[in-house]
Amino acid sequence: MIRPIPQPGILDIAPYLPGKSGKPGSQTVKLSANESPLGASPKALAAMLEAAAHLEIYPEGSSRVLREALGEVHGVDPAAIVCGNGSDDLLHLLAQIYLGEGDEAVMNRYGFSVYPIITKAAGARIVMVDEPDYRADVDALLAAVTERTKVIWLANPNNPTGTYLPEAELRRLHAGLRPDILLVIDSAYAEYVTADDYSVGLDLVRAQQNVVMVRTFSKMGLAAARIGWMVGPDHVVDAVHRIRGPFNVNLPAQMAGAAAARDVAFTEKLRAHNAQWRDWLSAELSGNRLRVLPSQANFILVLFESPEIAARAFTTLLDAGYVVRETGPSYGIDNGLRISIGSEQAMRAVARVLKSMDEAQ
Ligand SMILES: *Cc1c(COP(=O)(O)O)cnc(C)c1O
Repeated sequence: MIRPIPQPGILDIAPYLPGKSGKPGSQTVKLSANESPLGASPKALAAMLEAAAHLEIYPEGSSRVLREALGEVHGVDPAAIVCGNGSDDLLHLLAQIYLGEGDEAVMNRYGFSVYPIITKAAGARIVMVDEPDYRADVDALLAAVTERTKVIWLANPNNPTGTYLPEAELRRLHAGLRPDILLVIDSAYAEYVTADDYSVGLDLVRAQQNVVMVRTFSKMGLAAARIGWMVGPDHVVDAVHRIRGPFNVNLPAQMAGAAAARDVAFTEKLRAHNAQWRDWLSAELSGNRLRVLPSQANFILVLFESPEIAARAFTTLLDAGYVVRETGPSYGIDNGLRISIGSEQAMRAVARVLKSMDEAQ
């Protein structure tokens, strides 16, 4: 049968698997997608509702109001910012701009599962780099670079491991790259980092011509609004503007994002809640037969003794009303479960369930 044929490689792509939800109508608490347990900033919500009164008018196409708010809060020139329909939008655009047939993109073995999708969609090849003990290894990343390498995808902190590269290591990674290779620092969890030696990547972006930082509001209470942003050098920003959708961020999202960016008190509240319960849950579960990777994000990765025990833990948690993320299917960590940091009640319940399961073994 003659029919339209997708470009080479498209049908080799395994679709993205989102974190599961509970059954419709059930009371299941979702701890599978790293969403905010405190909802959205009330100021963001008010701004969104106000903007919804004018849905008949096209939004301002460059997300100017949002870029100005971000510029002010983060000390960045608004002209160096591009906004997107979620950071996924921007990651796709970067792949489309810098990758093509015959090119390679380097990423970590347990890196974010969107990177292989966008790399293959652009016709390029993904080069996976091993992470000894679930941590990015700068020497191994640099050793994986060839003359065909065009992009390095790095989530920092990483999803699903929660581990991160300290600033000095990030600098060492950049220093080892040819100037024609784009280093994409995906700082999706930056707001949750508490480590002193972390850098969100802005200093590198400012000083270099081949570094981009990508951010999102999704993990800060606005996942449904789809708001991402990036900061890069002029030539990268120019290229992204040329191919992005002319109205790629809707008006309610632009206004919600601007209000959320300025609501630093709400961001601080989320960060403090997360730090408290991330560290509490990590300490509660560590020891016995469970291993919790040290996390700087708003989730933890728990490693079980075997894939079977991890699968049993997933089901036991689900029966108790908590859905978490299995890290086998998307990430190849068959003995792991990624658990988002939720409410105090949810964290106490998860700890109780997993500890009693562990003790019953
Ligand atoms: C969640 C996540 C994103 C995606 O964010 P959106 O803005 O919702 O598209 C990007 N990168 C990493 C590492 C993430 O975990």
